[in-house]
Amino acid sequence: MSARNFHDVAIVGAGMVGAALALALAKAGFDVAVVEPRAPKPWTAQDEVDLRVVALAPSSVELFGRLDVWKEIIAARASAYARMRVWDALAPGELNFDAVDEGRAALGYIVENRLIQSALWNALQREPQITLRCPAKVAATESSPDRRTLILDDGSSMAAKLVVGADGADSALREMAGIAAHGRDYGQRAIVAHVATERAHEATAWQRFLPGATLAFLPLADGRSSIVWSAPEAESQRLLALDDAAFCAELGAALDFRLGRVTATTPRASFPLRMKLAERYLAPHFALIGDAAHAVHPLAGQGVNLGLRDVDELCAALIEACDAKRDFAAESVLRRYERRRRSDNALSAHAFDAIQRVFGSDAMPLAALRGAGLAIVDKVTPFKRAFARHAAGR
Ligand SMILES: Cc1cc2nc3c(=O)[nH]c(=O)nc-3n(C[C@H](O)[C@H](O)[C@H](O)COP(=O)(O)OP(=O)(O)OC[C@H]3O[C@@H](n4cnc5c(N)ncnc54)[C@H](O)[C@@H]3O)c2cc1C
Repeated sequence: MSARNFHDVAIVGAGMVGAALALALAKAGFDVAVVEPRAPKPWTAQDEVDLRVVALAPSSVELFGRLDVWKEIIAARASAYARMRVWDALAPGELNFDAVDEGRAALGYIVENRLIQSALWNALQREPQITLRCPAKVAATESSPDRRTLILDDGSSMAAKLVVGADGADSALREMAGIAAHGRDYGQRAIVAHVATERAHEATAWQRFLPGATLAFLPLADGRSSIVWSAPEAESQRLLALDDAAFCAELGAALDFRLGRVTATTPRASFPLRMKLAERYLAPHFALIGDAAHAVHPLAGQGVNLGLRDVDELCAALIEACDAKRDFAAESVLRRYERRRRSDNALSAHAFDAIQRVFGSDAMPLAALRGAGLAIVDKVTPFKRAFARHAAGR
């Protein structure tokens, strides 16, 4: 195998998480290869706002700043939100978060997935330490004492001291490495669309728990809101089948008319929801990150933020090993990463799952408890701080 085919780290999957890891490692001096089947479509300002957006926590924005991609993103199209309002259709409590209370200008930013992916991809192409294999897919992988080899679908192969599976919730690499994943299908679908509202969104993320469903209105830079309406499968199919006027009438009512009447500005799209947690994050010369390790319910808007925290920890573990002149792909090094991230990710996934279960129930005692819960969290400063700190990634 020629030197060009042997790398320090090979990352499989250049989604937001894999691409961020590739840049972070390249900037730290590692020789990195990236395998990705599809290059993202370049983002242009003339494009309609991508239907998939994410709420980036301050920790993710900081990471993108260090990777020199945040300037491109913020100059293009990103929407800072300064407040968050969470309330419930079945009980009177309300949670209010304000960036001012956190000593920040913003709680986070709403950004299009395609813009983030496009900015990361541009940076990957500029980075001399990175070899991009695209379009390419991994067909098989095997480990030997000092490396892991990837056999690609065109019959060629490459090897690395460490292979990282960042190929999303249905990770083929996770399966090839013999790592099981457990979880559950929520039997729900998230409907997404961008809508105009009668009242201004006030740079606020609005979230209402409904019987068996959750609805979020995320503020976009052009004054519209991006909605994520997670509902049981049959209910979402009913909502998807409505015409725009009927759908928007239900949408406005579902948000309790806080933003007044709602008007459709885009078609709707939908995604099935499930929780999937990898039983381990490690195999010989192999680690998992991002959705390949933990796919979570989107109600807290934390999926990619958790993945980007994996990036920080894996990177820190590898750099620390190199600084100490140790083998960065050694099991003990990867174990440190796993220890730091697996419990945090599992805790977050189960917390979102529990919220989803409690708020998915309209049985009366639980409904009373849910309202009391939000009111208590809002009144007790340490609880609220803990919630806000977690959402910010601190
Ligand atoms: C409706 C909805 C709303 C959401 N909102 C938020 C939010 O507000 N905030 C938030 O933080 N998260 C949110 N998320 C979650 C977030 O979108 C995911 O956590 C994030 O996209 C995961 O990134 P990733 O890079 O790990 O995986 P992916 O985005 O799935 O990327 C995987 C990459 O691997 C590539 N790949 C796949 N198979 C192979 C293979 N065999 N070989 C090589 N490459 C391969 C793919 O082409 C892709 O580029 C939301 C999710 C949904 C469904």
